Amino acid sequence: MKTKQPGPLSELIGYAGNYTKLTYISLVLAGITAIASLMPFVYLWRIIKEVIEVSPDYTHATDIVYNGWMAVGFSVLAMMIYIAALMCSHLSAFRVAANLKKTLLKHIGQLPVGFSDDIGTGRLRRVVLDTTASTETLLAHNLPDMAQALITPLCMLVLLFLFDWRFGGACLSSVLVSFLCMFRMAGPSMANSMKQYQNALEKMSNEAVEYVRGIPVVKTIGQTVFSFHRFKKSIDDYGNFCLKYTKSCRSPMVMFTVIINASFAFLIGLTMYLANDGVVAQDVLINFLFYVIFTPIIVTMMNRVMFLSENTMVIHDAMKRIREIMDIQPLPEAVKPCTIKQFDVELSHVTYRYAEDATPAVHDLSLCAKQNQVIALVGPSGSGKTTAAALIARFFDTQEGTVSIGGIPVREIPKETLMNTVSYVFQDSKLLKRSILDNLRIAKPDASEDEICEALRLAQCEDMMTRFPKGINTILGSEGTYLSGGEQQRIAIARAILKKAPVVILDEATAFADPENEVLVQKAFTALTKQSTVIMIAHRLSTIRNADQIYVLNKGTVVEHGTHQELLDSNGLYQSMWTEYQKAASWKVGENNE
Ligand code: ADP
Repeated sequence: MKTKQPGPLSELIGYAGNYTKLTYISLVLAGITAIASLMPFVYLWRIIKEVIEVSPDYTHATDIVYNGWMAVGFSVLAMMIYIAALMCSHLSAFRVAANLKKTLLKHIGQLPVGFSDDIGTGRLRRVVLDTTASTETLLAHNLPDMAQALITPLCMLVLLFLFDWRFGGACLSSVLVSFLCMFRMAGPSMANSMKQYQNALEKMSNEAVEYVRGIPVVKTIGQTVFSFHRFKKSIDDYGNFCLKYTKSCRSPMVMFTVIINASFAFLIGLTMYLANDGVVAQDVLINFLFYVIFTPIIVTMMNRVMFLSENTMVIHDAMKRIREIMDIQPLPEAVKPCTIKQFDVELSHVTYRYAEDATPAVHDLSLCAKQNQVIALVGPSGSGKTTAAALIARFFDTQEGTVSIGGIPVREIPKETLMNTVSYVFQDSKLLKRSILDNLRIAKPDASEDEICEALRLAQCEDMMTRFPKGINTILGSEGTYLSGGEQQRIAIARAILKKAPVVILDEATAFADPENEVLVQKAFTALTKQSTVIMIAHRLSTIRNADQIYVLNKGTVVEHGTHQELLDSNGLYQSMWTEYQKAASWKVGENNE
């Protein structure tokens, strides 16, 4: 039997866990508030009625004080119950926002590393932080308001027709007309506009992240923000959309505000109509005054209903965006424990496409690194080096062919085991704003300080240690402790040395190629390669001359492989790359000599 999917609201409330009942309690309390907050109007009306009836001898007006206190009492009571309702709704709303964040982050943690490239980090950040936060307004404020907004009209209907159906009708007609105006703004086209609005925001967020990442480039080349056409276009699109949408709401919004605030005008018109030769009967006057006092509550209620419908759309959209991420499936997890006894790394006839209809990033690619060998992947930009390396660390699963370590396909190696087996040193090392010690302990939480110092020494980081008075306890990125790109990479290498993973993937960083740092990074690499099978993505051919095997990739596949000398002798792609590389190197020297 097909089970019914819960609506976005029940799905959202479900995230409150044990706090769900607080949401329901808040709804009941808000309903009671609605009734209690109407009562002062009844007592006010009684006061007015009494005053008019006993006029001009006010000594007979004996119930005024009692009615006055009752009005005050109900106002205070309504306020207290409303506060209690909000406390319950807030507790539950905060729990929902926190649980949503936790669930999303836990899910994201299980997704393949490559997935954030597809989604975009800006979009991801918006969904995890802003979208989850946007649910809070609805649950904490709008839901209790909705309960009030449902109960109030019911009570109003009773009250309106209890006192004088003609005035009741006049009040209701203003409500109906304002409803029509609101529907024009908040109808189906609004849902579409809300989607476009969120899309524009998301796009801008993504482009902003890209822009911030590109600031160094912009500065170096001396460009302005206008060089970032996509970022500027996303801002312009957002601005244009907001303007167009605001303009489309202008007339209905003005009509809504005018009509709902002018409901007393309907009452005045009716009273004038009911007047007999310019004289208003006493009972008509009393009822007129009651309804004039009562109309502000209609304004408040309609405003709440309006924001409720807007926020409900925000929630529908938010849940859709959250579901889009939750629907991305983690890679199937190998459950059978396995022990890897030997650390040859092999890719056999591997094909991988980033999207179903895309050209393969690698196809029919085969290579092998024997245990403790150093192999290098070289080739033009876009030839598939990074993709091949990512497949070894199982950032994605191959569509065809097998990637194996020690003869065991990586798909069959449990995540934990694979993580302990493979270290990936990224080009752009991700260091945390914590102490050097903590940054290294990520690789091995129980590492002693001695082990850490030894790893730092092998990774040629001693110069940094002597420079910082607090040594390994120095917090990176604070108090002026900023590391150069090359220094960051050496710390990342120290992390990999500490982890002692039997397989290491090194993405060589070209950005920090000052000669002094290059020598140090090379030494650090050498220390790392002593203990592991190494797959190195090489950008500078000089660094890989001693590699056991060099695989030359082009258009996603291996076009030749061998040692440096063998490849030079074969007059293939490597040989021409080497010639180009040497030309570039001598050109640099020439420039310097001028
Ligand atoms: P290299 O590391 O040799 O420069 P890559 O492995 O990064 O090459 O890229 C190989 C091909 O895959 C390129 O055509 C590139 O455009 C494409 N590619 C790389 N990453 C992605 C991605 N996240 N989404 C879609 N295509 C990608």
